[in-house]
This record gives sequence, C-alpha cells and structure tokens, in this order.
Amino acid sequence: MVRQIAKIVNPSRIPVKYKDYPKPVLMRSLIRRLILVAPILLSTFLLNCRMPEKTEAPTARTPEQDKQADPIAIHRRAIAIDMHADTPQRMLDEKVDLSQRLPDGHFDSVRAREGGLDAQFFSIWVEPELFGGGGPRAMKRADDQIAAVHALADQHPETWKFATSAADIRASASEGKLAALTGLEGGYAIDEKIENVERYYKMGVRYMSPAWSVSTSWAGSSGDEVGRTRGLNDFGKQVIREMNRLGMMVDVSHVSDQTFWGIVNTSTKPVIATHSGCRAIADVPRNLSDDMIRALAKTGGVVNVIFYPEHLEPGWSEKKKKVDAAIASQVQRASEEEKGDAAHKKLARDRVRREEFAKCLPPVSVSRLVDHIDHIVKLVGVDHVGIGSDFDGVQSTLSDLADVSELPNLTRELLRRGYSESDVDKILGGNMLRVMEAVEK
Ligand SMILES: [Zn+2]
Repeated sequence: MVRQIAKIVNPSRIPVKYKDYPKPVLMRSLIRRLILVAPILLSTFLLNCRMPEKTEAPTARTPEQDKQADPIAIHRRAIAIDMHADTPQRMLDEKVDLSQRLPDGHFDSVRAREGGLDAQFFSIWVEPELFGGGGPRAMKRADDQIAAVHALADQHPETWKFATSAADIRASASEGKLAALTGLEGGYAIDEKIENVERYYKMGVRYMSPAWSVSTSWAGSSGDEVGRTRGLNDFGKQVIREMNRLGMMVDVSHVSDQTFWGIVNTSTKPVIATHSGCRAIADVPRNLSDDMIRALAKTGGVVNVIFYPEHLEPGWSEKKKKVDAAIASQVQRASEEEKGDAAHKKLARDRVRREEFAKCLPPVSVSRLVDHIDHIVKLVGVDHVGIGSDFDGVQSTLSDLADVSELPNLTRELLRRGYSESDVDKILGGNMLRVMEAVEK
C-alpha cells in the first residue's frame, strides 16, 4: 500500500512555543498562525477526509536506546508466527506470485523475510455470500485455497515448507525457510458433516473457527443478527470434541459470545483467538471481553492480537461506518463496472474502500496494538498473547505496520515499553508453539 509522508500541524503545540513573547507580538503571531492553519483545520474537521496518513513512529528513540536491543537481531533468533493472513484469496483470484515483491497487498515472501517472519498461518476463508454457507461450492473454495498454499510450498521449496506442527515450524526455521500453515476461517466447508473435520485435518488444516461473520447452523457469529442468540448446539460441541481428538486448534475469533462460552466449556485442549482485540479498549462485538480473555487463558490458550485499526482504536469502527455509507454508491459503481466474476467484483469494491479509508480515516500506529497486548498481559500474563495480523484481509492497516516487512516495528515498541527479550520471543511465536504442542498431544 502506498503511503504518503506529511507533517501534520498540531494546533495544541502553538501556545507553548509563544510563552516568552511580549503580549502584542504573541497575539499577532497567534492570529497569523491561526489564519495559516484555519484551512487545514476546516478541511480536516468539516470534511473529515483527504488527510494523508501520518507515518511518524509513536515515540522518537535515541540511537543509544536503539543499540540496547536490536529488533532485527531478535527476529533473526526468535520464531515469529503470524496466526492469520488472507493471502490465499489473492493466490487464487489474482494469481499473484508470492515469491516476488508485490507492489500491493500486505504479504509476499520477500517482505515476510524482511520482517523476520518464520511461519504464516494462511486463512482458508469461504465467503458465504459468494460460495455458500456449506455444500460443494463452499468445499471447493476451501479445497482450492488449501491447494494454492501447497502449490506455493511445492513451487518454491527454497523458501517455503508446508507445515502442520510445532516441530515442522522449528525445523523449517532452522533451515532458514518460511513455514506455510493453514486454518479454516468459518466452519462452512465442513458442510455440517463431522467426518469432514478429519478430511480437512488430513489436508493439513490445523485450526478452525466455527463461524466467520455469518452464523452456521451449529455456531453463532458475532457478525449477524442470528448470532445474538445462537451459541454452540450439540453438533457444534461434537465438532469441538472431534477437533480436540484430531489435534486441530479451536479458534474463537468471529464467534458470538454464547458460542465462545460453549467452546471454552467444551474443549479439553487450549483454545485460541487467531485475530482479535480487547473490548476494554475497542468495544466491538468481534473483540474479547476481560472475562473471555481470562477464560481463554484458563484453557492454556493464546489471544493473538489483530493489526486492524477497526478492532484496535476506540471509535474507529463508527467512523468507518460513516465513510462506508458516504462511499456506498462509488463502491457499487466499481462493482458493476468490473466485468469479471463475483470474486473480482469483490476485489473492485475492496479497492475503492481501501483508497477511501486511507484518505478519510485517522491513522493508527503500532503503539495502539501494543496497548492491547499490554492489557492482556496485565489480565492474564505474558504467556497468553500472540499475533494475528489479518494481512490481505483488511482494507486498512496500521500506519507503521502496513505490511509484513514492518513487523520489527512491533518488536521495537514492545522493547520500548520494557518487555524483556524472552517476553518478546513468547509474544512473537513462543506461546503459540506451546499451544500447538499441547493440542498435538
Ligand atoms: Zn477474520
């Protein structure tokens, strides 16, 4: 994603600078300065748009501080695992070559290496509106994405290795390769058949969330009306027990509150959230309440914090809704003008939204992401937190963590806040390796 660098005038800083001036000079200067900044303020607050993204780091670091702990050196040593990226859709619908540096999107092999990543869980996402909430089309969409991830590893064995276990991740990291893993986002592809859980396990899938933003018949989602009252039914509990038996991790990201409680009360293995934030900071239904975080930690699980501003920044979601309403006809037009299939029409809509969000929504920095990590650590300790970017699945990113190559900016912020190197190791991937080993047993 192309980002523009711009200095933003901060009017709150002006008075401090003029403290020592004689009063008339001060007044004249203030008036002059106000005249200068007035158009900027007006365009910002009235239109709430067209302000380029700010890319400044949250806090300036001295060269001395930087020398103390080098984030790049930590990434070279630590095993970094991102629990969620939606890149398989790009592999299928846009036929992107991940071995090259891509000019757009958030993920490719080159940038993953620059960011010091070791393992990527690729999300196998079936969009129910496009491919159905079950049935052969949903299964085919899942199968095609899994095949695309296998093909990535087969075609680029010098870079990638298809992995299904913690031991695989450790082995590929020691060989200097990237591990490719898969997780099902939403249980649509199991088509309400218990035997399909094992089918996907055998294809290499190592986690599944029972529902994405649309509820399944057996598990409520946090994203639709039905989910407000739907939890996990008897079949849903059977699915969780089957996942426990096979060694497939259960993901609570996207599920309804009732489904969440059904899962933690049913699962005998650690439960994870692959890409979620904290409701205590950003109060959206997709995030976890403090009680949920405590219950998830009690299972031995990990909350992998999402990098998406909507789930991190208070009030951002409401602002995004307003922008979405304002650009609805523009988005619709882009969809109609696209002559390709349904997946390409969705790409066209996403392109408009991405561009408009960048222009109209306030930038959010990695510091806010670390606020969520801090919150979880204060609640349940450093053993229960990890990372799940949602790269290539979102239309807006953090200003200083705009793609996988910028992952060390997260590490830098953790160090700045006083996290030890061993704590950083746990957050980057050590905690998830522990959970994977426990679930594999
Ligand atoms: Zn998601």
